[in-house]
Amino acid sequence: MMPIPHYDAGPTMIHTMMASAFALGSGPSLRGAADCLCDLPGGIMIFMGSTVPIIWAVLVLFAALTALLLYLGLFQDRSRGRPRCPKCWYNMTEAPSLVCPECGHDARTPRRLHRTRRRRWAIMLAVLTAFCCYYSWLVRVRVVELEEPVSVALRPTSYLLATLPKARPVQLMQLRGRANRFGLRPWESELLLLALDPIMSAKGPSPEQAIWLLSIAAETSNRALNKLVDLREFTIPGTNYYPVFASMAAHVGRSRDDQLIALLDSAMKLSRPHSHDAPDAILIEMARRNRPGFKEQITHWAAHPPEDPTFKTKENLALVTTLRRMDGKPDPLHVFLDGPQAMECTSGNLPTINVRIVNVDVETQAVGFQTGGDYRSGRQARWRLEVRDEQDRLMPVKPRMGFGGGGISSFGMLQPGKSYETKLEVAKYVEPLAPGRYRAVVLYHNSATIADMEDISGLIVSSSDPFELIVKPAGAESLPASQ
Ligand SMILES: [Zn+2]
Repeated sequence: MMPIPHYDAGPTMIHTMMASAFALGSGPSLRGAADCLCDLPGGIMIFMGSTVPIIWAVLVLFAALTALLLYLGLFQDRSRGRPRCPKCWYNMTEAPSLVCPECGHDARTPRRLHRTRRRRWAIMLAVLTAFCCYYSWLVRVRVVELEEPVSVALRPTSYLLATLPKARPVQLMQLRGRANRFGLRPWESELLLLALDPIMSAKGPSPEQAIWLLSIAAETSNRALNKLVDLREFTIPGTNYYPVFASMAAHVGRSRDDQLIALLDSAMKLSRPHSHDAPDAILIEMARRNRPGFKEQITHWAAHPPEDPTFKTKENLALVTTLRRMDGKPDPLHVFLDGPQAMECTSGNLPTINVRIVNVDVETQAVGFQTGGDYRSGRQARWRLEVRDEQDRLMPVKPRMGFGGGGISSFGMLQPGKSYETKLEVAKYVEPLAPGRYRAVVLYHNSATIADMEDISGLIVSSSDPFELIVKPAGAESLPASQ
């Protein structure tokens, strides 16, 4: 990945910043110089170290201006003992009554002659400088946290969205970074929807980024969610990758019933590895809502599941599992541990456990099952260990090791009563455990590498019964006296 170039904006920066803050969207002449720096071959680092201090200086300047203008507008021109007309501010020390000799306004009570004069122009300017101060803070976050070049950081999100159809792919990446950090406001989602059709019809890597951006918009905008569902069968040109499904798990909770049905039908029609594991999230949500017709639709697909074109196996595990769960029956696959249900070990030497996954389906349905294909990262990544301590706190999962993945795999149908056995090294799945008693379960997914994932709540996993893990201090056996 190309490093993001930094550069010293120099003394013109304040000028650019003021212009941008006031005009919302700097003109082409201001953009030119900065873009040249961004386009340097290989992303040469030009970093003089003064960009961030300058942004801070501008921020503090605007904050100070705001405070000054507020003081001028609200408190500076107090009565200080002088009676003044509250309408035209004529000095009424000599006036015989409460009626102003200058403008004829009747103050009615003497107290009104001692009001503080508010200056509307100063208050309005203070609102403007307060906005500039806020905008400087936004620019600082964009530069420091999101690593945007200053020339981009100065531009409002709405401006970047409005110019999206003509933008370079990097602009979509930058917008995605901003949307992840700040979310998208309603008008920003509308601008994205306006820009979407030209992007989706063009070639290049942008459509996928646009769909990710749309997915973020869909968190708050129903129109964006509907558009996302409408795009479900959109594929990246030249691939059979369906980016909508990659982001869909986050949105099933807000999808309408008819959208869930449409999504499941599409997920079943599309080639599975490229529609991701979204069917799981859709199926979990359908089982949760359990509306009339949902079970019939899932039963239909369980009888006609997607087929792996190479191995001629049926990808029906998630469908059959969902049906059993809707009926309150056990999952079709269950993980068994060979050996005692309470395992003793030391913190320096966590055990290797022998596991067996068995087709125990009550309706003796064979299910498609994958072996291998997940071990190149150093562990079998479709397995996961969830370990909880005595306070029921989840122990941290060991993150993905290295960048390798995949491996040789084969697919087949796991017939009723048949099983698949393997060994799992506990130390490869959880971070080192302090001495204590733990309860653990072994989880399995047939396609997702759940060992490497942070959140597996959107997935349908097979599980073992809980077992006990008793961890003793390292070296407890050899050095009992010194402990
Ligand atoms: Zn007056």
